[in-house]
Amino acid sequence: MKFSERAMQVTPSATVKVSNTAKAMIRQGIDVINLGIGEPDFKTPKVISDAAISAIQAGKTSFYTPASGLPQLKEAIANRIKQDYGVIYPADQISVTSGAKMGLYVLMQALVDQGTEVLLPKPSWVSYRQQVLLAGGKPVVVETGDDFKITPETLDAAVTRNCKVLVINSPQNPTGTVYSKDELAAIGKWAVFHNIILIADDIYGKLVYNQNAFYSLVQAGDEIAASTVLVNGVSKAYSMTGWRIGYVAGAPELISKVNSILSHSTGNPATVSQYAAIAAFESDQSEVETMRKAFEERLNKIYPLVQEIPGFKLAAKPQGAFYLFPNVEEAVKLAGLNSSAELVDVLLKKAHVAVVDGDAFGMSGYLRLSYAASLENLLTAVERITKFMNQFL
Ligand code: PLP
Repeated sequence: MKFSERAMQVTPSATVKVSNTAKAMIRQGIDVINLGIGEPDFKTPKVISDAAISAIQAGKTSFYTPASGLPQLKEAIANRIKQDYGVIYPADQISVTSGAKMGLYVLMQALVDQGTEVLLPKPSWVSYRQQVLLAGGKPVVVETGDDFKITPETLDAAVTRNCKVLVINSPQNPTGTVYSKDELAAIGKWAVFHNIILIADDIYGKLVYNQNAFYSLVQAGDEIAASTVLVNGVSKAYSMTGWRIGYVAGAPELISKVNSILSHSTGNPATVSQYAAIAAFESDQSEVETMRKAFEERLNKIYPLVQEIPGFKLAAKPQGAFYLFPNVEEAVKLAGLNSSAELVDVLLKKAHVAVVDGDAFGMSGYLRLSYAASLENLLTAVERITKFMNQFL
């Protein structure tokens, strides 16, 4: 079969692939610990699941909602944004999508033409690059320093006349990096000056640790907010990855285009999930805090242990999200291997721990470990990797 050029460019998601392999090994009875995927291990809070059950029992399943989402959900999102960020988005500036991933995909479809360049920090989440390619665009990598942060200087070095969009993800997947308000303001000012649209992927915004603060680009001043499209969702903060609800908030004319594309692609996100999301945004947020604290405890326990693994080098302690991104070049050499991809392979086969190769995020020589797993599993996984690496000392 001959595929479209678009389809030929796309590769499967490395994070999904490693996680599927790990899950298949687990089904075969192999005791694999899966640190491969960003999936919180908590149950969705009961108040949220109960809202979905009530929606089913009330028969709210046999109708389409507007493709852009239920008006009540948009109102709940607007209120949450106002409470969290102090910024006001009327309902016609919000579109509900089947996960933040779909929101980002639709944005690329709405903004990117053949050859349009999109600035992506190095490293960054696996799907941005693929979504840009699927839209016919060209991903342009922005270099970062030891702190994994882009700056106006590194942006200056990367920008071309064809650049139209810059994606900022803070807290960042895969590094856990969190940008300060001043850093965001500097990047935002740079983007406004260059007439570049900012996409703020705030999906990990609720997951910031150890007294560090989270700011969104939309809080960096009116001019920057006006050039920014906000993307967020319920997957990470509310442990709702399976419900597939995200949203996009931005200028009315852009949201109108997003809505048209949605109306011909996914249509509305699952109605029942939308009712669950209303409960997530409107209910008491204490369970979000309970989960945040659990992630914080895990980070504080495993960060020093991962630092001690022979050949693993961690940069400064991550401030948010739920990933560690150690440099493993020395570990690769110690184990007599050729690449971090080979290390991922042997860690899965020999140590029975699934992690993701940094190459998936644009940085070979690194690994991503997710600490969205129980503390017990995390400690066992680190022990297994340490034991595996110790044999080469
Ligand atoms: N953005 C980033 C940086 C992510 O890591 C993820 C999920 O892993 C998403 C977006 C997508 O989240 P959702 O489950 O809402 O589609």
